[in-house]
Amino acid sequence: MIRLQLHWQILIAIGLAIAVGLGINLLSQNNPASAAPFLSTFSFVGTLFLNALKMIIVPLILSSIISGISTLGSSNDLRRLGGKTLGFYLASSLFAILMGLFLVNIIQPGIINGEPAGERLNLSSQEEVGANLDKIEGRGTGDVAAVFHRMLPPNIVQAAAEGQMLGLICFGLLFGFFMTRIASPMRETLVNFWQGVFETMMGITLFIMKFTPIGVFALVANTVASTGFKAFVPVLTFFFTVVLALAAHTFITMPLILKFLAKVNPVGQYRGMTPALLTAFSTASSSGTLPITMECMEKNVGLSNRTVSFVLPLGATINMDGTALYECVAAMFIAQAYGLDLTLATQFTIVTIALLTSIGVAGIPSASLVAIAVILSAIGLPLEGIGMLLVTDRILDMMRTAVNVFSDSCCATFIARSEGETTQIAAKS
Ligand code: ASP
Repeated sequence: MIRLQLHWQILIAIGLAIAVGLGINLLSQNNPASAAPFLSTFSFVGTLFLNALKMIIVPLILSSIISGISTLGSSNDLRRLGGKTLGFYLASSLFAILMGLFLVNIIQPGIINGEPAGERLNLSSQEEVGANLDKIEGRGTGDVAAVFHRMLPPNIVQAAAEGQMLGLICFGLLFGFFMTRIASPMRETLVNFWQGVFETMMGITLFIMKFTPIGVFALVANTVASTGFKAFVPVLTFFFTVVLALAAHTFITMPLILKFLAKVNPVGQYRGMTPALLTAFSTASSSGTLPITMECMEKNVGLSNRTVSFVLPLGATINMDGTALYECVAAMFIAQAYGLDLTLATQFTIVTIALLTSIGVAGIPSASLVAIAVILSAIGLPLEGIGMLLVTDRILDMMRTAVNVFSDSCCATFIARSEGETTQIAAKS
């Protein structure tokens, strides 16, 4: 029996969901009661799928951050390389997020004709969300201070139970860092333990991903059946906002960094990386693409094995510019659609969590949906908004994964140049 690849299954599920959803929508215009059994079945299955995603958030984020940070090692050399690499990764992800934030604020895909698009998208009413918003919306610096307070929760177990991810992530960063500083056999035991937890969580994630076509079908069909065509306008505007921001990061920010910081010819970097970029695009997995990225950077761009084997695996685990950008734009889009008043403090929260969770997102297809769930809980919005992202998620995943991989490669070139290597694409001075 021929088994279709997951992305084809998801695309077919979306196509079917749109067709079925529109059919039910038409049916319900003549006889409103007839749609009810379909809607409740879709929402039952959709909730099961979302619950499965939510269930893995805490252990997945924690184990991937702890094991990612612990791979940095402890010798001086590693620390210097690690410091530079982490600095680059954080800075490039921040640039990516700010590009996304800028464009999503200008284009405002979640606002249609001056009104929040939530109703078109069949999201819960503002009144229902209002109770949540009251919790998070305050004024001025007090709110920003609260974000810092959340970074250091007084009780880490309570923070996990309440879905307060920011505190959990900061705890994971601290834990991963200090875990590598304790004495030998305990250090190895802990590193292996967290690596084991992480790989197990990846296994569960991949298992849940197998049900994505069914989950996607239920969530998309539910949205389309209850809203008809009205749902498409904001989703398409959102799609183009993400594409524009990803393109700006890849074709403006990154080449500038390559040219002025790494002092190499950006065209050579694109050319050398083409096989890896295409693989990233078709697999939507930066971890899966890693061997090809390493091969391209060594053979085509001419970096040393030392740089490539340190910078790229780390990047595939913790550096996700495209993902960070996407998380920010997606969370802002959903917040706009709910009519949330996006104060500076809320935007600051979104940027911070997008940056931190992009470190913890696994390099596998659709992994950022989990991170978006984290951001939505942090800013007090219900997770059902994720349903509308699923319509365009696959194709945007392919694009953001290529951006993730390209950013890793730019970091490798930058580190190689800063360590005195001459690459095949070094600019003539
Ligand atoms: N698919 C992405 C990657 O592997 C992660 C994500 O944004 O979902 O890099």
